Amino acid sequence: MRKYFLLSLLLAGSFAGTAVYALPPPSSLSAREKRAVATPTPIAKSRVVVPEGRRPSTVVVIDPGHGGFDRGGIPHQRVPESMMNLDVAQRLKAVLQAYGYHVVMTRDSDVFIPLGTRVAIANSYRDAIFVCIHFNATPRSSASGIETYFYSSQSLPLASAIHYYVAGGAPSANRGVRRRGFFVLRRTTIPSVLVECGFLTNPTEAQYAQSVTYRQKLAEEIGRGVRERSMVASSSTSNRLAANTATVPLQPFIDQTHYHDPDLARSKHKRSKSSSKSTSSKRKHSSDSDSGSETKSKKKKSKSANTEG
Ligand SMILES: [Zn+2]
Repeated sequence: MRKYFLLSLLLAGSFAGTAVYALPPPSSLSAREKRAVATPTPIAKSRVVVPEGRRPSTVVVIDPGHGGFDRGGIPHQRVPESMMNLDVAQRLKAVLQAYGYHVVMTRDSDVFIPLGTRVAIANSYRDAIFVCIHFNATPRSSASGIETYFYSSQSLPLASAIHYYVAGGAPSANRGVRRRGFFVLRRTTIPSVLVECGFLTNPTEAQYAQSVTYRQKLAEEIGRGVRERSMVASSSTSNRLAANTATVPLQPFIDQTHYHDPDLARSKHKRSKSSSKSTSSKRKHSSDSDSGSETKSKKKKSKSANTEG
């Protein structure tokens, strides 16, 4: 709630001293914001003002999906998902560290980490965000594209920013932002997203994924989304802003929270009722009639590890 308050302050152009906590790192500030940060009001001074360069750095917890005996993907998949996830995650770590973020990895090698442990790591940092890196898989080899998942409403700006840059920077199709109750998204108390960086079962996207250049590009676009997350517009109707305004449009999303999934149904009662507010006004109709069954078959075959810890 406080974050939304700060975000609205920021978007309204009311740069009170407290708004520095909602700002991205200094390198991405506009000249106007730099002035605002550099000249705190007396009111702000009487509060806790952290000197320039000594602000608490935002922690980014990066979670490379799967690992160890859990290769991810579907049976007989040629390109192992877990290794691709780890490589993109390690590149993302370098990108974010260069921006000045403190990065925590849930795994930094090819080991299996239970989902509960991943969530516990994320929840142990208060001023943090959680970014899960995955690649998609489905028996239908023609399926392709980038998807970004979130669950809690506080995670939508982060999902929007990351998806905006990754889907915009990748040659793959844009499959949209989706709301869904994956375990790691449902159980984390900080803003959390899960990026599906393309289908390893699609020959073209599998080829992309095996290129170092492409994995580096993915990491840079995700990193850009992390950095620009506080510049996301407060509503999807404000997409048309002046071209020189550093604002990322809030992405419309497909709500899959009531999507029938045997893996998720078992823990349905554990979901927060308060976060299941109506999103019908923002619901986007998918024209891809295949996406439902395809996602379903994928979840049946490979996402049980994602949804149950
Ligand atoms: Zn995965």
